[in-house]
Amino acid sequence: MIPESVVAEILRRTDIVELIGGVLPLKAAGRAHKALCPFHTEKTPSFIVNPERQIFHCFGCGEGGDAITFLVKHERLTFPEAVRYLAERAGVSLPAARGGGGPAEGEGRLHLLDVQRQALEHFRENLRGPEGSLAREYLRGRGLTPELTERFQLGYALPRWDGLLRVLKTRGHPDRLLEAAGLTVARQTGSGHYDRFRHRLMIPIWDVGGKVVGFGGRALPPAAARAGDDTEVKYLNSPETAIYRKGTHLYGLNLAARAIRERNRALVVEGYFDAITLHAHGFDHAVATLGTALTTEQARLLGRYATTVVLLFDPDAPGIDAARRNLEHLINVDLDWRIVLLSGGLDPDAYLRTHGAEAFAAALEAGQDLVDFFLDGRVSGMDMADPVQRARRADGLIEILGTIDNPIRREGYIQRVAQRTGITDRSLLEAVARQRGRAGRRDAAQAPPIPLATLPTAEEQLVYIGLNYPAWREQISAALTPEDVRDPILRRIFSEFIQAGHAGPPAGSQEAPRPMSLLPPEVQRRLSSLWARDPWSVGSSEFGEYPAGAPGHEELRRTVEDCLARINQERGAVERQALRQALEAADRRGDSDQVLRLLAEHPSVKRDQRTP
Ligand SMILES: [Zn+2]
Repeated sequence: MIPESVVAEILRRTDIVELIGGVLPLKAAGRAHKALCPFHTEKTPSFIVNPERQIFHCFGCGEGGDAITFLVKHERLTFPEAVRYLAERAGVSLPAARGGGGPAEGEGRLHLLDVQRQALEHFRENLRGPEGSLAREYLRGRGLTPELTERFQLGYALPRWDGLLRVLKTRGHPDRLLEAAGLTVARQTGSGHYDRFRHRLMIPIWDVGGKVVGFGGRALPPAAARAGDDTEVKYLNSPETAIYRKGTHLYGLNLAARAIRERNRALVVEGYFDAITLHAHGFDHAVATLGTALTTEQARLLGRYATTVVLLFDPDAPGIDAARRNLEHLINVDLDWRIVLLSGGLDPDAYLRTHGAEAFAAALEAGQDLVDFFLDGRVSGMDMADPVQRARRADGLIEILGTIDNPIRREGYIQRVAQRTGITDRSLLEAVARQRGRAGRRDAAQAPPIPLATLPTAEEQLVYIGLNYPAWREQISAALTPEDVRDPILRRIFSEFIQAGHAGPPAGSQEAPRPMSLLPPEVQRRLSSLWARDPWSVGSSEFGEYPAGAPGHEELRRTVEDCLARINQERGAVERQALRQALEAADRRGDSDQVLRLLAEHPSVKRDQRTP
C-alpha cells in the first residue's frame, strides 16, 4: 500500500489541467476548462476540469474524480499504476514495492508500456549503431532526413532471433510479459521465445499521449542476414495487446494533434510513410490508419480535434472500395467528410516526391464531399432517358442515401440527387424511407439533451456550501448530525469533508483533504459534481460555468439558514411521524402509562393529537 500522505503529495505536485490537456483538447471556460467527454458520446462539451479543485467532472454522464481517477478510467491503469505514473512524472520517489519492485508483479498496462519504451530505445540504438547502416541507407533512399528519423523515433530490429529478447531479459522482464507485449513469439516446437521483428525498420506507434503502444516493422532489402523474416511480409505489425488496438489508435496523432486543432482539419492516409512524408512537407495534420479502414472510434477521436476530415486515396486503391463499405460508419459520425484522389495512381509519399508540396496542396483543395463522391460515381454517365437504367442506378443511390441517419443531412443529399437525375424528391424520399425500414433503421432522435443538474435539496446545498466555503463548516456541523443527512453518499461527504474538515487543520493552514481517488467511485462522482458546479446557476443551461461573482456573505447566510430550517422542518415531521406510530402502538396495547409519558415528553405531538 502506498501511504495516503504520499498519494496526497503526488496529487499536490500534479497539474490535472496539464495531465488531461495532454490527452484531450481543453478549452478555457471561465476559471475552468471544458472538453467533449471521453467517457460518453456528446456534441456539446459537458466535461469540466477544475484547476482550483484539481478535479474533473462530466455533467453528462456523471464521471468524475481527481488525476489518479482520470488515469484509472481513461488509461485503464490500476490505482497503484496510476500513482506510480504520476509519481514518476512529478519526481516523487515512492516507497519500494513489495517483492523488491521487480517486474514479477504481473502484466499490467504500465509494464507493457514500460517494455515497449525499452524496446524502442533498443531499436533506436541499433539504427544509430554500426549494424544500422543498411537501414540508414534505406531511409536516405526514401528521402528521410536524420531530423525526421529522430522526430518519428525510427529504429532498427537486428537480424537476429534474440536481439531484443536478450536485452530485455537481462533487464529482468519475464518471457510472458514480452510475449504479451507482442515483441516476442513463443516457439512452436520446444520451449522458449524468439524476436517477432528481425532485420526490419521499426516504426513506433504511439497513443495520443505519446506513449509507445506497438510497432510497425518495414522489411528491408535482404542483407547477408541469417535471420531475416522468412515470410517476406512488407509490413509486419505488433499484434493487438492490452494496450494496443488497431481500430482505436491513429498513427501520428500525438504529433499531429496540435496542427489538426489549429487547422480544424485532419488528413487521413493509409501508410506510416505517407504520414511521415506529409509531415516532412509541412502537412503536419496527417495521421495514418493502422491497417484497417477508419473505424467509428477513430472518427470520433478525430472529431475531438477538428470538424473536417479529409481521406486521401490513390485512385486505384482497394482503399476506395473499403471506404464505400465503410461509408455508413463514417457519415454518421457528425463531421465534414471529404475525399481526395491523387492522380497517376501515386500514393501520397510518391506523389509528394514527384510533384511537390504545391501540387499536393492543390489536390487537397480539389477534394470532394465524401457522400457526393459516391453518389456521383453512380450518377455520372447515366442515361436519363433510359427508364431501366435509371431505375437500376437509382437503387444504388437509394442504398447510399438510406445509410445517412441524420434526416436533415439526408434530405440535403436527396435534393441534390433529385436535381441531377431528374427523379423527383418525393419518390426518392419514399424509396429511401422504404429502404431504411427494410434495414430496420429508426431515425435517430436528435442528440439527447444533456440532463441538467436537478435543483439541489437542502442537504445538498449545505454540503455544497460546507465544501466550498470552509468558514461555514462550524455552523453547519453544529446544526447537523450525519444522521440528519438522508442521502448516504452526501452523508459520507458531510462527515469526511465538513465535520472532519471543521475539526481538522487549524484555520489558515494548508488544507490537505483526503485524496479523492481513495474514495469509492460513487462518492467521487458526487463530490466532483459538487465541486464543479455552481448551485446559484442550477436551472440555467450554463452549468459548469463559474459565476462572475461568488455569492456574498449575506447570500450564503440566508441560504444556510433557509436550508437548516427546511431540514429541521423535515426532521420534525419525521420525528412526529415516529412518535405518532409509537403512540398508536402503545394505545393498541392498552399501555396508557406509555401513552401519557409520550404525550408529556412531546407537547408538540400533543398539539398534533388534538387537531387531527
Ligand atoms: Zn461524460
